[in-house]
Amino acid sequence: MAGRIIRLPDDVVNRIAAGEVIQRPANAIKELVENSLDAGARCITVTVSEGGLKSFCVQDDGHGIRFEDLPILCERHTTSKLEKYEDLSHIATFGFRGEALASISHVANVTVTTMTANQACAYKAHYFAGVYENGKNPIPCAGNRGTIIVAEHLFFNLKQRREALKNPTEEMRKILHVIQRYALHFHGVCFSLKKLGSSTPELHTQKDASLEATIAALFGNDVEQNLLRLNVSNDEYCVKVQGRITSANYVGKNYLFSLFVNNRLVDCPSLKRSVKDVYGKVLSKGRHPFVYLNVQLKPENVDVNVHPTKQIVRFRYEEEIIRLIEDAIQDELRKTDVSRPFMVSSQASSLPDVRMMASQDKSVREFNDPDDAAWRLVRVDSREQKLEQFLVRSTSSQSTTNTKRSLSQELEEPQFHQPAVSELKQKKRKTALTSIAELIDQYEQNHHVGLAEFFKEFTFVGCIDANRVLLQHRLMLYMVNAPAILSEFFYQVVLEGWQGFEPLHLSNPPSVDALIRLALEGVRSKVAFKDLPESEQNNLVSGILKCLTPKRREMWKTYLAFEVSDDLKLISIPCVLSSFTPDLTRLPRLMWRMLTKVSYASEKECFQQISKELADFFAPPTMQPAFLPDDATDDEIEERRLRSFVMENVLFHALKGFGFKPSIALSRSGDISSVVSLDHLYKTFERC
Ligand code: ADP
Ligand code: MG
Repeated sequence: MAGRIIRLPDDVVNRIAAGEVIQRPANAIKELVENSLDAGARCITVTVSEGGLKSFCVQDDGHGIRFEDLPILCERHTTSKLEKYEDLSHIATFGFRGEALASISHVANVTVTTMTANQACAYKAHYFAGVYENGKNPIPCAGNRGTIIVAEHLFFNLKQRREALKNPTEEMRKILHVIQRYALHFHGVCFSLKKLGSSTPELHTQKDASLEATIAALFGNDVEQNLLRLNVSNDEYCVKVQGRITSANYVGKNYLFSLFVNNRLVDCPSLKRSVKDVYGKVLSKGRHPFVYLNVQLKPENVDVNVHPTKQIVRFRYEEEIIRLIEDAIQDELRKTDVSRPFMVSSQASSLPDVRMMASQDKSVREFNDPDDAAWRLVRVDSREQKLEQFLVRSTSSQSTTNTKRSLSQELEEPQFHQPAVSELKQKKRKTALTSIAELIDQYEQNHHVGLAEFFKEFTFVGCIDANRVLLQHRLMLYMVNAPAILSEFFYQVVLEGWQGFEPLHLSNPPSVDALIRLALEGVRSKVAFKDLPESEQNNLVSGILKCLTPKRREMWKTYLAFEVSDDLKLISIPCVLSSFTPDLTRLPRLMWRMLTKVSYASEKECFQQISKELADFFAPPTMQPAFLPDDATDDEIEERRLRSFVMENVLFHALKGFGFKPSIALSRSGDISSVVSLDHLYKTFERC
């Protein structure tokens, strides 16, 4: 039970920050919630009508107010929390001025119902302008331990103010903001915010809940799943900061920033801005983090008495502390940037001497400056030098120089044009088939958001070998297994273009019979196809050809521009990416699989399997060996060169503009791994 409520001595009154305490419903409610917390409440319920403009009520289960204190409760400068001015230097309660209830009672009708542990019943009193309304004394009534304060008709006597606050939705938003912050910081206290008459609360947290569970309840699971811990302490400035921040994988629409200094919810625009700048380096435009900071300072280093609503506090070493927080957040984000969840297998450890330099180092700090950022120092333009230019084959360097042509020459090659992104977009969803829509929904709803962003924004650096490419994303370099990514990409391209493909006509249509025979020659079995007696070979082939019913041919043609003529010749295949010609030597395998591996029983399953087969056909397969041997022929060298060119200028170019929705499985498969953070690398080279 707190001390008695007393009138503050005049010398104290003269020295506390004066000004308007109640400006809008949200800040009146904040004062009442702080009173409840000061009273040791474990459960606080806020009920609001018309954004608090009509009424608001704060109910708690705190220690209550003594019957004897009720007469002066709403008078100005009456408080149980401060006796002399010196107490302010180590104040541990929110209140100390005895002004909130007085101010509210001057602009609203206030009813207080309260009961302490020692009283037999509760008492109810009405106040107006600081005193009992109409001289009515408190009346005994039934109640529970704790206090209920109701304020009605806010600003009924201030017409201009009332008119300025006409929008209940906006006021409700502000109230929600405040209660959310208190519920976050005082996790474990049960908070409810309700609209009067509504059965579902706007916000509700559980008693004794952990910080993480409370964050999930208040801000969503997405925030909670991407939380990083922040722990900073510094003896020189006598500061401890604990907090939770989201990693770069969380992409919020709004900047959710909460700052508590010695348990007070305060504004500190400079800190808020610096934290935003730190995130600006890792999040793309329009994406925001969640940041919750709990700053503990020596009470004598904080001045809580600088603002009438206590919204702003001053503290010693403000700049230095902001710097500390900024650096700590930057370090946390860096650490996780190297092991972003979608980049499971980090290769960084295998690279010698790529270590982060201590962030205390002044010269390093300069690179962290947004204006002079590492961004400027690393390569972000794919038209700059290519990786291939630095890869020299171990022998016959002369032959490579002979066959090597400049990039500009390559770009002028007539047979390849980069597919226009708009063209790809237009291609999307040409069909109204539900089963296709469902298959598309399946990967759209289960894709990895962070990875999708990666594939939208990367810069192509170069091909490492026949299968792996290096992509840069922000300040990180990633090694990507191209066949795996491209096969998932083509699956989506096929589904989205279903029923809208142009045919790619084969100039010399091969017979399906021949294709199947070629495919069977490549199939591993006990007895090789070629070694079978001719009659058996024919039986096998005609058995497969029987699957090619006119109905199926019709379906392939209508949906996929995959046409087989009546005399069973393959006339055309779908053109899934303009300017991309797939490897036609894989046609026999495709035809054989379309006839033997696809189940035509259910529509959805059939469409899915066909799309997978087509995706496998279009995506370049894994090539062995990844690096060409030293005795490779000129043709082989040329083949690899062409493959690299297509990877970059056709396939990855198309993928970037497509809106590819990578699966969550891809994030764990090891097909994408971070190699190194470029700013770390830059700093390492900078030292040389
Ligand atoms: P302050 O909080 O600065 O003391 P207020 O006007 O907010 O001033 O409150 C005046 C006093 O009323 C407080 O000091 C406290 O003793 C008492 N009081 C107000 N609300 C409550 C509550 N919910 N539970 C218990 N006591 C309360
Ligand atoms: Mg108070």
